[in-house]
Amino acid sequence: MRTIYLDHNATTPLLPEAAESMRHTEAEAYGNPASSHHVGRAARRALEDARERIAALLGAHPDEVTFTSGATEANNLAVFSLAASRVAASQLEHPCVIEPLRHLETRGLVVDWWPVNSRGIVAPCPVPPDTQLVCVMLANHETGAIQPVQAIARSLPPTTKLHCDAVQAVGKIPVNFRELGATTLTASAHKFGGPKGVGVLLTKRGTKLQPLLFGGHQQQGRRPGTESAPLAVGMATALDCSVRNMTANLARLEALRARLWERLLECGPVVLNGPEIGATDVVPTTLNVSFPGCRADLLLMSLDLAGVACSTGSACSSGSLLPSPVLRAMGIPEEQLRSALRFSLSPTLELTDIDEAATRIATVIRQMQSSAKVVG
Ligand code: PLP
Repeated sequence: MRTIYLDHNATTPLLPEAAESMRHTEAEAYGNPASSHHVGRAARRALEDARERIAALLGAHPDEVTFTSGATEANNLAVFSLAASRVAASQLEHPCVIEPLRHLETRGLVVDWWPVNSRGIVAPCPVPPDTQLVCVMLANHETGAIQPVQAIARSLPPTTKLHCDAVQAVGKIPVNFRELGATTLTASAHKFGGPKGVGVLLTKRGTKLQPLLFGGHQQQGRRPGTESAPLAVGMATALDCSVRNMTANLARLEALRARLWERLLECGPVVLNGPEIGATDVVPTTLNVSFPGCRADLLLMSLDLAGVACSTGSACSSGSLLPSPVLRAMGIPEEQLRSALRFSLSPTLELTDIDEAATRIATVIRQMQSSAKVVG
């Protein structure tokens, strides 16, 4: 049976252009970018060219780009560098922002957790003057809801820094670091057709970062360790492709999201979690829905057997039966929480894939409902 992959917020397949650019870089620029001979210099050129392209595509300066192993490391680097005694953060943040903050709370950091409305949008609170850092993501990983990051940046006192996890926005909607007004911003290549194991932390000029690692001088000492030119080039190429095709991709994603919702409505009782179809404050990659009466973990397993890959929340928490903290923060009732599934789309899908997925979902739900009746 053909798999229909609807879990693109967890990760995306590598774009052929990115794969080819990485193969070429590995063959031609395999040296250590820190070596002074010509093999090392070729790797350095490839690395710095990738850094310049990523900077230009995201509205940053090349010296503001630090390559990391992905977004988890980039978010940890930002939080551990910029949080001192008081921080504000939305309750929507990914675990790789929440957990470093919780860890620092045990060491005395005060965290003001900002609430979220029922559509999944953060409600900013007044910022006490001793707050060094505010953490607000750009697009939520579970609902796609776009947060008012630019407005928040403009409202902050000049001494308060803003960290923005833009992982689910970069490559999907326009993101400009300078215009957004963030101090630091995270992106991860594997969320937009690039390779796994590489991301960036953009850091506004003049901001001091405390490295998490020691033992090398690379990347201004911010992130010691040999840089991977092939991974950096793969990320730059994937970002370039995603930005070039963004308008067409967004139109296609809107149509795919609307079609999936329309077809799910035919499957029986279903509730949308997060911004409505056609809303302007949602990345149309994501559709989070609840099927009241069906347990999400059982639904997920049955859908997997039926060849539909989706998720009950962020990839990091899958495997656990705990309901999504994001949906809980939105005030979604318990029954709806326990029956929530996230479908996440890519422009490579066809409307016929969506129709086929919906047909399989309807069959699985009918089977679950009839076996529940037999057992009941
Ligand atoms: N931030 C958000 C919003 C995410 O969705 C994810 C991954 O799901 C991450 C951070 C972590 O990304 P990475 O896999 O690059 O560590």
